[in-house]
Amino acid sequence: MIEVQNIHKSFGDNHVLRGIDANFEPGKISLIIGGSGSGKSTLLKCMVGLHAPEQGKVLYNGEDFTRMDFETRIPIRKEIGMLFQNSALFDSMTVEQNIIFPLEMFSDMSRNEKIDRANYCLERVNLAGRNKLYPAELSGGMKKRVGIARAISMSPKYLFVDEPNSGLDPETAILIDELISELTDEYQCTTVVVTHDMNSVMGIGDYILFLYKGQKWWEGSNKEIAHTDVEELNNFVFASPF
Ligand code: ATP
Ligand code: MG
Repeated sequence: MIEVQNIHKSFGDNHVLRGIDANFEPGKISLIIGGSGSGKSTLLKCMVGLHAPEQGKVLYNGEDFTRMDFETRIPIRKEIGMLFQNSALFDSMTVEQNIIFPLEMFSDMSRNEKIDRANYCLERVNLAGRNKLYPAELSGGMKKRVGIARAISMSPKYLFVDEPNSGLDPETAILIDELISELTDEYQCTTVVVTHDMNSVMGIGDYILFLYKGQKWWEGSNKEIAHTDVEELNNFVFASPF
């Protein structure tokens, strides 16, 4: 369980997150949705410790991650898998090297065990045998899948996925959503997905958090959303704030 309590984050005088509260449950998929610039990626980065919020807390199973120092964070950090918005693969590394990168940092696996794990993760994302390709040789959807393979290489307890469907055709987007569902079942992880895709909201979101200009605008289950005027929500959330 991850609890986000009253998170505020500014960049200079740009007050991006304005007091966010939310709970993310294990074995469930939580979606964060909102217009461009509403603070979705910033919230994820605060949750994984890449940004330090000025106020508020992020608790992992009751432990205050925000106030921990680098060393104390490592056990939780090892349980986090993340797909960044731009996939963030290392261009000078092969697919296999990208996937085993977290294992090199955080595991004491032997060389062969790491390769076996990379092969398993590649199979899970339907890219078996692509080990030796470089990111430049991959399509956008393949990069996302390699990013997901890297995110699951440490068998995550917490899986953060930023815009898995952006730039993908609708069929590939559905396959990626199915993959995220399967992985959440397999690892029983707390999965948090940032998306613009209303199909994902209706399809895989157990809990949905709408952000608007850095504040929680609506939260609820996808059952509740089915009783809500989705078009109205959609128009409101994606109406340009600029
Ligand atoms: P998108 O849907 O376009 O990815 P988002 O909801 O993920 O948008 P964020 O990336 O969280 O939005 O950005 C929210 C605001 O914070 C924007 O105004 C952005 O310019 C600002 N911001 C984000 N990261 C930084 C940073 N590292 N330094 C300065 N400003 C930042
Ligand atoms: Mg973003």
